[in-house]
Amino acid sequence: MEKLSVYNNVIAQFNKAADKMDLDTEIRKILGCTMNEIIIHFPVIMDDGHIQMFTGYRVQHNNVLGPFKGGLRYHPSVEIDEVRALATWMTWKSAIAGIPYGGAKGGIQLNPADYSKSELERITRRFTFALGSNIGPEYDIPAPDVNTNAQIMAWILDTYLSMMSPAEQNRCVHVVTGKPIESGGSLGRDKATGQGLVFVLEAWAADNAFDLGRATYLVQGYGNVGSWTARLLKPHGAKLLAVEDHTGALANPAGIDANDLHAYVQIHKGIAGYSGAKPITHREFMSTKADLFIPAALENQITADSAPWLQVKLVVEGANGPTNVAGDAILQERGIALLPDVLCNAGGVIVSYFEWLQNKRSEFWELEEVDAKLHRKMVGAYRRVRDTAAQFGTDWRTAAYIVALTRLEKVYKERGIFP
Ligand code: NAD
Repeated sequence: MEKLSVYNNVIAQFNKAADKMDLDTEIRKILGCTMNEIIIHFPVIMDDGHIQMFTGYRVQHNNVLGPFKGGLRYHPSVEIDEVRALATWMTWKSAIAGIPYGGAKGGIQLNPADYSKSELERITRRFTFALGSNIGPEYDIPAPDVNTNAQIMAWILDTYLSMMSPAEQNRCVHVVTGKPIESGGSLGRDKATGQGLVFVLEAWAADNAFDLGRATYLVQGYGNVGSWTARLLKPHGAKLLAVEDHTGALANPAGIDANDLHAYVQIHKGIAGYSGAKPITHREFMSTKADLFIPAALENQITADSAPWLQVKLVVEGANGPTNVAGDAILQERGIALLPDVLCNAGGVIVSYFEWLQNKRSEFWELEEVDAKLHRKMVGAYRRVRDTAAQFGTDWRTAAYIVALTRLEKVYKERGIFP
């Protein structure tokens, strides 16, 4: 089967919004391209003494609003098309959230499960070394994404600082975000993306007289974003009916305990074998009747093939790009509402921004302060998108793009193009 191009999807979304808002044709040319694309083939010594070559990517889409910013993904599907798309989404996301960042994304094409911890450390360090000055605390700031975490950020930090003079090292701790707390991370960063999604959902529920306490929902992906979302929805009383990850899908009509499942996944590295729910097929998972579907895994999950299966009222996108253009059209036809990724999952980059600020100022904020600031930013972004959707009479994804493109267009018009 031909792999669906994720980048074509972003460009189609971009063109739709640009047409709707009548984006300046010259600025459209600039934003419709990435700025820099770095592809690095690098050698790493494996535990058995052999050398293996790896391919790593960093795509920098735009930095007119501030430094390039975006995660690093370790996954077999990482390739240039996907990284371009993810980098572009980061530009829109930062612009919607109202934070002074541009967009970038990177990754290495590998399956982390195939490597030992020390191999992953050497792969990470060698990639960081190879990236060299293509990243930097005021230039391009990586963060965690699929299959990367605080430990990997700590290795990147240590490698980057090791390449600096001793006098400069403490000025550069903000070269990555999503670090462990002790190494300069922020309280609240780990849960930030799920927390931000829940803040958006709360705002939507209040606007629509929707009772989250009686809601039923499905989660696809039970990693950082999926499991934090489920754990944060639990106190609301919402019921998790079915869940899917790379090891399979499970359902329990009586509800799945989000904390218990999280504890299981920590040990078993996937949901398969969890005794609190019964195995179901992918199609059964996607067809489960519920109020909400929260995709929090990978791209292209709601497509022309699968969108007709959904039996939900609202899709809340935790993942980047889970719905493609054909999937979007079917959801709209079927009257299924959607809160888009560039709004819902912005909590990660927002708290990354807070971490970066704390590092720059040598401060350490309390969790309450981080949460309160995140709440303000998420609700602000939610309202901008909601009001823009009403103003333009359009779907929320297009509205979110219009919010981002309006901000970017203004800056380009103010600054002009050199020379
Ligand atoms: P993660 O590695 O912590 O979790 C990924 C989850 O997806 C795992 O549970 C995995 O089993 C599941 N998965 C992988 N392949 C699957 C498949 N074929 N079918 C079903 N499930 C599958 O990653 P994460 O950080 O939670 O990221 C998830 C999504 O959220 C990605 O799209 C990522 O770009 C996006 N995102 C993450 C953050 C963040 O702060 N981590 C921020 C914004 C957006």
